[in-house]
Amino acid sequence: MFGFLKRRRRRALRAQPVPEAWHGIIELNVPAFAHQDADTQEAWLGHAQVLLAEKHWEGCGGLELTDEIRVTIAMQAARLLLGRDADYFPTVQTVLVYPTAVVRREEQHLGDGIWTDAEDELAGLAATDLGAIVISWEDVVDGIDDPGDGFNVVLHEFAHELDFQDGNFNGAPLMDSGGEYARWRAALSPAYEELKADVEAGRRTFLDEYAASDPTEFFAVVTESFFERPRKLRKRYPEVYEALKEFYGQDPA
Ligand SMILES: [Zn+2]
Repeated sequence: MFGFLKRRRRRALRAQPVPEAWHGIIELNVPAFAHQDADTQEAWLGHAQVLLAEKHWEGCGGLELTDEIRVTIAMQAARLLLGRDADYFPTVQTVLVYPTAVVRREEQHLGDGIWTDAEDELAGLAATDLGAIVISWEDVVDGIDDPGDGFNVVLHEFAHELDFQDGNFNGAPLMDSGGEYARWRAALSPAYEELKADVEAGRRTFLDEYAASDPTEFFAVVTESFFERPRKLRKRYPEVYEALKEFYGQDPA
C-alpha cells in the first residue's frame, strides 16, 4: 500500500468511536489505562484499533476469539507504541491465540551423540519467520491477576518484535540515532552481565532468571518490568530505566 494511503487509512481507523463493550474490558484487564490523561487514552484506543484491523487475528487449539481476548491483547500491545512514532509492528502479520501454554517439541543435543525429545511450555512466541506472534490466553489472564508481578506475555512478545525490526534479535531495537544506541548499550550491557553473574552464583535476582538467557530476552523481560513495576525497576537498575524511558517515550514510574 502507498505510504500516504496507509497513513490516511490508519487515521480513519484511529478516529473511529470505540465500541461500548471495550470500556468494561479495559477497566478490568488494562488497569493502567485509567491512569492516563485524555489525549493518551485517545491515542491508546486508536493504536489498538489499527492493530485489530491490520493484523490477522486467529483463535487456535479450539479457542474462539472473543472481544475480551482481542481487545485485551491489542490494548496491551498498543501500550508499547504510545510514546513512539507508531509503525504498528511491521514484522507481525498474524496474532495466534491459544487457550493455554503452547508446547514446543524439539530435539536437544545432550552431548556424546545423545539426543532427547525436549518439551518446552511457552507462554508466547515471536515466530518472526512466519510473521506471527503466538500468545497463550491463560498466561495473559495470569499476568492480569497480578499486574505488579513484572510478568506480561503480550509486552514480552511484542517487545521481541521491536527488537527484530532492524532484522536481527540482539536486544537492541531500531532506534532514532547512533547516540541513543550508544546510551542503550552503556545502560543495558552491564546490567545484563551483572544479572548473568548473579544467576551463575545462585544469588536471588530482581529480574526473572530467564532474562539472563541472552540480550534479546533481557530486553523483553526488562520491558515487562518497565511497564508493570516501574518504580522497582528504576530503583534497582536506574540506567536501564532511563534507556527504556527514552526508547519508549514514556515514564510509567
Ligand atoms: Zn522471549
